Amino acid sequence: MRGQPSDGREGTRVRTILEALAEALLPSGGSLDPGAVEIDLIDDLDSLIARFAPEARRRVELMALALELSPLFSRHLRPFSQLPSERREAFLRLAEQRSTLRQIVAPLKTLCGMVYCAHPRIAALLGYEGRPFKPVEGSLPPPAALPVRQYPELRRNEEEIADVAIVGSGAGGATVAAELARAGLSVVVIEEGPAATREDFQVRPVERVVRFYRENGLTHTLGLPPILVPMGCAVGGTTVVNSGTCFRTPEFVLHQWHAVEGIRDIEPERMAPLFEEIEGLLNVTPVTDDIMGRNGEILRRGAEALGVRHGPIRRPVRGCHGSGQCAFGCPLDAKQDMRLSMLPRAVQAGARLYARCRVDRIRVRNGRVTGVEAMVLDPEGQPTPYRLIVHAPVVVLAAGAIYTPWLLLRNRLGPRHSIGRNLRIHPGCGVMGLFEEEIEGWRGVMQSYYVDEWLTEGILLEATFPPPGVGYSAGVFPSAGQDYKARLARYRQMAAIGILVSDTGSGRVVVGPDGRPWMLYSLHPEDAARVRKAIALAARLLFAAGAREVYPGLPGLEVIRSEKEIDAILSSRWRPADLILSAYHPMGTCRMGEDPQRSVTDSYGAVHGVPGLWIADASLLPSSPVVNPQITIMALALRVARRILETWRRS
Ligand SMILES: Cc1cc2nc3c(=O)[nH]c(=O)nc-3n(C[C@H](O)[C@H](O)[C@H](O)COP(=O)(O)OP(=O)(O)OC[C@H]3O[C@@H](n4cnc5c(N)ncnc54)[C@H](O)[C@@H]3O)c2cc1C
Repeated sequence: MRGQPSDGREGTRVRTILEALAEALLPSGGSLDPGAVEIDLIDDLDSLIARFAPEARRRVELMALALELSPLFSRHLRPFSQLPSERREAFLRLAEQRSTLRQIVAPLKTLCGMVYCAHPRIAALLGYEGRPFKPVEGSLPPPAALPVRQYPELRRNEEEIADVAIVGSGAGGATVAAELARAGLSVVVIEEGPAATREDFQVRPVERVVRFYRENGLTHTLGLPPILVPMGCAVGGTTVVNSGTCFRTPEFVLHQWHAVEGIRDIEPERMAPLFEEIEGLLNVTPVTDDIMGRNGEILRRGAEALGVRHGPIRRPVRGCHGSGQCAFGCPLDAKQDMRLSMLPRAVQAGARLYARCRVDRIRVRNGRVTGVEAMVLDPEGQPTPYRLIVHAPVVVLAAGAIYTPWLLLRNRLGPRHSIGRNLRIHPGCGVMGLFEEEIEGWRGVMQSYYVDEWLTEGILLEATFPPPGVGYSAGVFPSAGQDYKARLARYRQMAAIGILVSDTGSGRVVVGPDGRPWMLYSLHPEDAARVRKAIALAARLLFAAGAREVYPGLPGLEVIRSEKEIDAILSSRWRPADLILSAYHPMGTCRMGEDPQRSVTDSYGAVHGVPGLWIADASLLPSSPVVNPQITIMALALRVARRILETWRRS
């Protein structure tokens, strides 16, 4: 049952382990007092985990148990929670040097750091207030709310008839919905996640991660190294919790998709009007200095010093005040995610929207698609006995790059040999630097400035600073105990650069033995080398901007203090498993193309061999777009929608 540990004794055991970890990681005294014990961190952490989805909770339990048993195989010879405090701390330091152990400890450390930094007493000590960079004058308009149908209104089996059923309401699904509804088709959008308004984004970021990320933000790959791949699960899809960064697909990528992948009508001159249209609808504009904040300024300073290409990031915003919380839902309704842009356009044109309904069946008769079926979920995301059936001759899958292939595989539709393959994720991490000056990196736009000097090598660097403790920040600080806390205490003096690497290697989405999608992905050695190069470049930029220390996040190389040490990052002694990575752009798992042996859809998103079935999301991308993908996805979705209309009108 949700809200309870999977088993009472197991829950108590996990609590004991996490309590032991928190105490060793965040002891009392030192430069940031109180410690974990004084603020009852374990109670906060426990109640957070109790609200996790069962899969996410199980994952935390497994990691905690792995930590518990690990010292038995070292000179410590006792379970972690039974070690005296100083030996627990020593064990955590040892874990920093061991690649496998680090992969277990880092996520648990992040969880503890996140809850610790979010505590009001600690947030006050760090100086984090969560207020916009530019003061908001006057009052805001009432929060925008979309008319959605969901449980408990859906308290029986329900049937709908439409021209088009769209599965998923994110970047791809919402764009198709708006275009088709405005062209006069009757459209139903079915979304698994909950509907949110600005009111839901007034709570601590950590609470929002639990509510609006799939599996509470803990979705990850299986492979070496395991990589966190968070995804949104909400009306509006991942755009609700993304950083807002907008790049057009670079021309060299479009040329390659045309010439090498054989995709029709994708040349730069064909795509340019689509990009323009999307950017106009979303009001995509560059970050201005009055909201950017100092984290962006640091990257600009570093880039100017090195003489490399740089600029302010373009984002879809209206009235942004630099709240610094894009990835947790915009508390001011400034970021034009799909909730505030494409979905209202769709709804105004008559589209009907269902929330908390998980599509699991695609209906087919005589080889043609006839609609979809969904299970109605309760407010906790658990199945109710009720089902929603949408009868429609056209079905558009826009469930994202993990769930679209899952739906096809489950329903045995489409060219099976290609579905789920070619998974790209843009592996990356955050590189933090310590400065003498006060930066308060969390104040201002969260992802604000870029350096694209090395784009053709598949490396993009972006100044990105989430609220203290959330995301990569607390997990990458080396060490434990007072040293760790001393670094947290100087959070205000940190700047961070996020690195994004185009993966040449790929993984695969399969239906796991538990019936859910599994992301199989091991980092290709060439991509690992590129990640190291990107970390080194970020370090160079931070030093050029005046950093005193940089944290490259490699085992045995936790801190570097001068440019001279940067070369060590490039050493080939680091293996892929030594890297602690996260990735935010799953894509490519139902690639488009003209050859049914290599692709899942044609050049315009129609699934090979299944009339009436289309795809319009990140799955379509044949390879990495080299930049953050949302504009590419929306432009491709617009292209799919227009093709559907042409086909509809012809028939
Ligand atoms: C933290 C974070 C920051 C990011 N920042 C940026 C950025 O700055 N710029 C950028 O370009 N990209 C960014 N991205 C990535 C970007 O948001 C995604 O690439 C994009 O939203 C993907 O679009 P999509 O339509 O493929 O899927 P999504 O937007 O994920 O939408 C898919 C929707 O389908 C729903 N769904 C899944 N299965 C089912 C089912 N069976 N039934 C019903 N509904 C279902 C999901 O709940 C989801 O809401 C970020 C991602 C994350 C996680």
